[in-house]
Amino acid sequence: MSVIAQQMLTGLTRPALQQIGNHRLQPAAAAAFFLMQQAAAAEGINITIASSYRDFATQLRIWQGKLSGQRPVFDLNAQLIDLSQLDDRTKLYAILHFSALPGTSRHHWGTDFDVFDSAAISSDYQLQLTPAEYTADGPFHRLDSWLGKHAARFGFFRPYRQYLGGVAVEPWHLSYWPQAKHYQSALTKEQVLFACKNADLFPQDLLKTEIDEIMRRYVFNICEGTNE
Ligand SMILES: [Zn+2]
Repeated sequence: MSVIAQQMLTGLTRPALQQIGNHRLQPAAAAAFFLMQQAAAAEGINITIASSYRDFATQLRIWQGKLSGQRPVFDLNAQLIDLSQLDDRTKLYAILHFSALPGTSRHHWGTDFDVFDSAAISSDYQLQLTPAEYTADGPFHRLDSWLGKHAARFGFFRPYRQYLGGVAVEPWHLSYWPQAKHYQSALTKEQVLFACKNADLFPQDLLKTEIDEIMRRYVFNICEGTNE
């Protein structure tokens, strides 16, 4: 893989992207998305993208917002955490439940995106992207079941559909397996450390000490594509 392509894996350079409304995906992922969207529409489900391609700088801003207290940080029981009381290592792992370390987000690849069903809610509904919205009492339960049955047919899988001890459950997160599988296996800790070197996030020593654990628990520890 060329250096440029390697830097794409960590969000430092951008892949070729196709515009979908306000969102962007790689053309192959976009084409598969349109087919899936059409199939779901026939059943009254309007699969709508909430978030798609994100570069390193955007993911970094999310982390800086959480570290500075401008964005809330929750624990796995949806309780607010006061980061100011915690040491750097504890802060790092608290944020990793819900936000990928910049350089490790699957959103860097243009193959991954978050979806909801805009046909199931009123126009003034405040989208939260919480697991409760996708369970039996939530507005997106039909979407969740539909994706479970049909997403794989279009090449998509949900890497965070179950909690495996790393990233919290995200039933809304879809990944285009035919491309994402290559990126996932090409991504290394060295690329991530390189990307984070000048990011002014945590002391580089802390990241160097923790990077193996971060990669094992939050990057490679996903529900695989074949058993959606
Ligand atoms: Zn996502």
